[in-house]
Amino acid sequence: MTSRNVHGVTVECVRGDIADQPDMDAVVNAANAELRIGGGVAGAIHRAAGSGLEEECRPLAPIRPGQAVITGAHDLPNRHVIHCLGPVYGSDEPADELLASCYRNALSLAEQNGLRSVAFPAISAGVFGYPIEPAAEIALRTVIEEAERLSGVGHVRFVLFGEGDFEVFDRTLRKLAGAGD
Ligand code: ADP
Repeated sequence: MTSRNVHGVTVECVRGDIADQPDMDAVVNAANAELRIGGGVAGAIHRAAGSGLEEECRPLAPIRPGQAVITGAHDLPNRHVIHCLGPVYGSDEPADELLASCYRNALSLAEQNGLRSVAFPAISAGVFGYPIEPAAEIALRTVIEEAERLSGVGHVRFVLFGEGDFEVFDRTLRKLAGAGD
């Protein structure tokens, strides 16, 4: 685990499962446009949350790339799920701006809802095909840029499923936020 304090916000990277983050107010879903159960993150979150999540999502869909919406967490051990639709790499353009918008809009919803902690997966870096290095750079750079403006959110965690993805996020956080201790 790597952790840095950026403008009073703890930004950290851990290896783990986004559906098993009981100490966080919200977890972020790497959603599909229809906000339905899917593979990867959307599968793990919907399975753990139960069918009530899909029911709550139905009237909110479809969403556009870069957009974020918030729901309850149902059977997940969190208060809310924030659903982001990342860009499909090579198809939704400009991909870097759309990916940054996901993180920015998710943090903005967390602030509006009085949440203190948010856990993100590596949005778009799975089925949507975003290469992990630029995906990590955009994710971390956007959160670090936003940190100064956050007043309620004090803890942002990136939860990486694979060791390789974790290593890239870990290295990128050290590069962007300093070597630390
Ligand atoms: P997208 O469709 O936005 O690409 P995916 O869910 O396919 O989203 O994958 C996003 C990233 O999340 C990938 O790096 C994938 O390895 C990772 N991932 C898959 N399942 C989980 C999980 N349960 N917890 C955290 N990360 C996960």
